[in-house]
Amino acid sequence: MAGQLGGVTQNYGMLSDRTRMRMVERLRQAGVRDERVLAALYEVPRHLFVDQALATRAYDDVSLPIGHGQTISQPLTVARMTELLFSGRPPGKVLEIGTGCGYQTAILVRMGAQVFSIERIAALLDKARQNLRQAKLVQARLVHGDGHFGLPEAAPFDGIIMTAAAKTLPEALTAQLAEGGRLIMPLGDEEQHLWLVEKTAQGIQKNRLDPVKFVPLLPGRN
Ligand code: SAH
Repeated sequence: MAGQLGGVTQNYGMLSDRTRMRMVERLRQAGVRDERVLAALYEVPRHLFVDQALATRAYDDVSLPIGHGQTISQPLTVARMTELLFSGRPPGKVLEIGTGCGYQTAILVRMGAQVFSIERIAALLDKARQNLRQAKLVQARLVHGDGHFGLPEAAPFDGIIMTAAAKTLPEALTAQLAEGGRLIMPLGDEEQHLWLVEKTAQGIQKNRLDPVKFVPLLPGRN
């Protein structure tokens, strides 16, 4: 028994440093350039955000199940989206839609953003709250609700990041962007792409980026 426990401790020791460093090197090779993003992915212990049974795979570049039919995005997707969201600017005030296990939330908090995050499944929001507490990144405001409507009471946002795929762009979200603000989200159904939406003095600009695969944005909350 003692041996087994010792083994587990050793495993976690390994998970917490060298494995994370390797993950960051892979992200760099895949083209992630923002050192603030790379530092946050290195520092936030991703294994705390997945089931213990999956902890040894936490630093592989894969998405993993987090319960309730939902998934935590792969590290490269989290890094890419965060890099696009901030594009070299100070993080400012950010709205996340789809808290899930709270990993993306933790990255945003670690980077110094003022974070509001909305999740429609109450049980997942509780889990995210626990995970963030364990990771000692508790500054985000977590809200149980339907992200289709954004969070008008806290708007405008410098950035909005959505981690579930909408079929069409929810109008409420562009309305809640500050001028100069950026919205990054997956759009589509069977076929999905990341979209970058920017609010400029001239109006809204939309750009279609990489093909992606996210769980769907669903209506209502439960
Ligand atoms: N960023 C998360 C990814 C979770 S998957 C993570 O790192 O774990 C997407 C999440 O979006 C799921 O938890 C799902 O329940 C949530 N979601 C789907 N539709 C939503 C909606 N309308 N409002 C808020 N959250 C929603």
